[in-house]
Amino acid sequence: MKAAPEAQKRLLDLAELDTSLDRLRHRRRTLPELAEIDELSKRLAQVSTQIIAAETEAGDLARDQAKAESDVDAVRVRVDRDQKRLDSGQVSSPKDLASLQSEIVSLRRRQSDLEEVVLEIMERREAADARVTTLKSEREEVTGTLRAAEDRRDVAFAEIDKETGELTSGRSAITADVPADLLGLYEKMREQTGVGAAMLHGGRCLGCRTSLSIADLNRIRAAAHDEVVRCEECRRILVRTAESGL
Ligand SMILES: [Zn+2]
Repeated sequence: MKAAPEAQKRLLDLAELDTSLDRLRHRRRTLPELAEIDELSKRLAQVSTQIIAAETEAGDLARDQAKAESDVDAVRVRVDRDQKRLDSGQVSSPKDLASLQSEIVSLRRRQSDLEEVVLEIMERREAADARVTTLKSEREEVTGTLRAAEDRRDVAFAEIDKETGELTSGRSAITADVPADLLGLYEKMREQTGVGAAMLHGGRCLGCRTSLSIADLNRIRAAAHDEVVRCEECRRILVRTAESGL
């Protein structure tokens, strides 16, 4: 392949620019905020599930409490009614009186048992409500941290994208100076090795850092200036400059 030495030299600018673009792509992919956002999103989903569970439990307990309170009320109504009958003096038979008094005693015991149940449910309900409150404040905190991380990510993305845009326009300006076949070879090598072209500097290929053999250097020395030469080691396009040591 043949190409004007100036076009070949442009490949070094292109390689430098592509390295910068690769670095930007890598930075965009590995921003610490991305891992942080992932972690926080998982935590947020977890907390939201826990809130639903705690709210469901609190709701169930509220229903249980209402039911237990209405049980207490029903017994209280019966105790009041029996007590009124007793106080009215209308029940005179000793047998009926004894039976009424015994019913009142047993109803009062039942009422006290049911009131215990209400208290126990209320305690559990308070605990569930407190859990909901704690989880909601945690959700708020995680959401705030997540939004802040997303903002930092967006700022970094915007910065990277701006720089990428500038380098990409610079790249178009360079590729306009490089003939299509040389550019094609550059892109192919770039795909295979990450870097398409390297400088021959002091007898070394700066792509793979190998010192060229005397025979290879002689071969390159003998090659025409517009001949496109390659590194025998890494196959990259070797660009000759004043510092090539030829
Ligand atoms: Zn090389």
